[in-house]
Amino acid sequence: MIPRIPHPEHRPDWQSLLAGAVRSSEELLRLLELDPQQLKIQPLCSDFPLRVPHSYVRRMAKGDIHDPLLRQVLPLVEETLQVAGYSHDPLAELAAMPSPGLLHKYHGRALLTVTGACAIHCRYCFRRHYPYSEANPLNSHWEQSLDYLGRHPEINEIILSGGDPLSLTDLRLREITTRLSALPQLQTLRIHTRIPIVLPERVDDGLLALLEQQRMKVVMVVHCNHANEIDPAVRGALQLLASSGATLLNQSVLLQGVNDSASSLIDLSRTLFSAGVLPYYLHQLDHVHGAAHFAIEDRRAVALIEAVRNALPGYLVPRLVQEQPGALAKSPLQCSNN
Ligand SMILES: *Cc1c(COP(=O)(O)O)cnc(C)c1O
Ligand code: SF4
Repeated sequence: MIPRIPHPEHRPDWQSLLAGAVRSSEELLRLLELDPQQLKIQPLCSDFPLRVPHSYVRRMAKGDIHDPLLRQVLPLVEETLQVAGYSHDPLAELAAMPSPGLLHKYHGRALLTVTGACAIHCRYCFRRHYPYSEANPLNSHWEQSLDYLGRHPEINEIILSGGDPLSLTDLRLREITTRLSALPQLQTLRIHTRIPIVLPERVDDGLLALLEQQRMKVVMVVHCNHANEIDPAVRGALQLLASSGATLLNQSVLLQGVNDSASSLIDLSRTLFSAGVLPYYLHQLDHVHGAAHFAIEDRRAVALIEAVRNALPGYLVPRLVQEQPGALAKSPLQCSNN
């Protein structure tokens, strides 16, 4: 048994940490002792404002405008550029929705966007324009989604996504998982979440108990893009999640200025492994409006993953994939001979 954190009464709870997150570029740059003149910051981004928990800010290097964690959260003027091929719904997700908030694109698994809220706002997020208020399965559409699942017994895995499902309270998560567990066809509960990485305090006794009590096999796919995101608190949270019986995988996005070097990707895989997590996917950026400055050419992406493959055992090499609207699975990016 791994001892749980012994003095919960001395620990700020995750909801107050979430409420106290940094919400302005000025405050963030002040904490990092950076001069706003050094960076081209976008002053108005009220539809997807800056949001980052203090514990994540503490993992950034002070005085470094190139910090890979800073780049993931700081709204730059480049976001306002109109770039050909970049749209608001790059994956045509709205066409794959049999019920609002339920996405069924691939055989045997379906994905529920259970909330639009996140602990952090990642500037490259492909769902940054997703209509969560219309697609929230927890309002009137919830029964419709359960009904659809019941009529599709070939779906044996349900994926909770968002937003970030772990931004919901334990009570809400318990309601959702209880209703889903009642469908005997569902064997696997998968949770796509960045919260164990960005707000490890969320992994508390209540959440762990909820995970331990599941009838379904639990798979947790976390989202970490750089080794610097994994500090001792994150390691502790991941260890607790593993001890609850969950299988831990990671997905990353290949991002210009964040992790676009072989050494950074190799370091990420090794660090994840040392924290009990296996790399799963490395996503080529989805072409969402506002994120073009993070893009890496396919040819370079393939070369990078080749370099990772030549340096690491196969189980530490993530699958480099690109999502194609209408495809039956995420598509691997292959070596081209040109
Ligand atoms: C990514 C995704 C999945 C999961 O795909 P896996 O290859 O099983 O990880 C399922 N449904 C949707 C809609 C997705 O976008
Ligand atoms: S945590 Fe995930 S869903 Fe939320 S902003 Fe970041 S990438 Fe998007």
